[in-house]
Amino acid sequence: MDAIDVSALRKRFGATIAVDGIDFRVPPGAIVGLLGANGAGKTTTLALLLGLITADSGSVRVLGHDMARDRFAALQQINFSSPYVALPYRLTVAENLRVYGHLYSVRGLEARIRELAETFALAPLLDRPVGQLSAGQKARVALAKALVNRPALLLLDEPTASLDPDTADRLRAWLLRYRAETGAAILLASHNMTEVERLCDDVLVMRAGRLVDRGSPAALIARYGLADLEAVFLDIARGRPEIAA
Ligand code: ATP
Repeated sequence: MDAIDVSALRKRFGATIAVDGIDFRVPPGAIVGLLGANGAGKTTTLALLLGLITADSGSVRVLGHDMARDRFAALQQINFSSPYVALPYRLTVAENLRVYGHLYSVRGLEARIRELAETFALAPLLDRPVGQLSAGQKARVALAKALVNRPALLLLDEPTASLDPDTADRLRAWLLRYRAETGAAILLASHNMTEVERLCDDVLVMRAGRLVDRGSPAALIARYGLADLEAVFLDIARGRPEIAA
């Protein structure tokens, strides 16, 4: 059973077609990168996968559940982190993790919070209101929140955008370990091509709401005959006609 199975998915905001009939699958245990220039449709795709917005047409199956009919069964097993979704800022870090832990009915919640605090170096911040934290500290809290229910599918929007290089590197290592230990699938929107090359088994490249290319980072680099994924990204973003897979 695929972690994600998307078919002919479409979403329009007024005159803008944000997602224009995309199809893709994410197998269990895969880490897949969602790439594309600003406005390509990545965040809208993630929001459609989470059921935060409703598609105009097409279907989304998450962990075997049809999101149009059976959304709540899927939501228990997925989680996400996005810099665009703020955590309740008056609550402390510990209170935030407790609230989300209860929403997901996490067993052994206090032990899970201690574990996450250790992983993300949050212990000194647990009693501080989230609104008082730096951007990088908030990003670590958002990731801890995203893992509180040990999700089988993790959706990440720019997970390391505000992290310093050392913290970002630790987080990437941690995501690889989480996948190895749990078999979880991860879909991650990112503009950091070095990160994508390190983490992702496959990438999906969006342009103007469409999926214009896909494949493993190594296969895309070889097919375009370029030095690295950054060069492939620039090539696609600047409008080179698609190379048939
Ligand atoms: P970025 O890399 O800048 O985060 P993105 O690939 O995540 O971009 P989206 O946020 O999905 O892009 O936006 C896709 C398109 O849909 C853009 O043209 C955007 O202006 C438009 N759009 C997104 N959300 C809305 C909305 N709520 N109302 C109107 N238009 C929207």
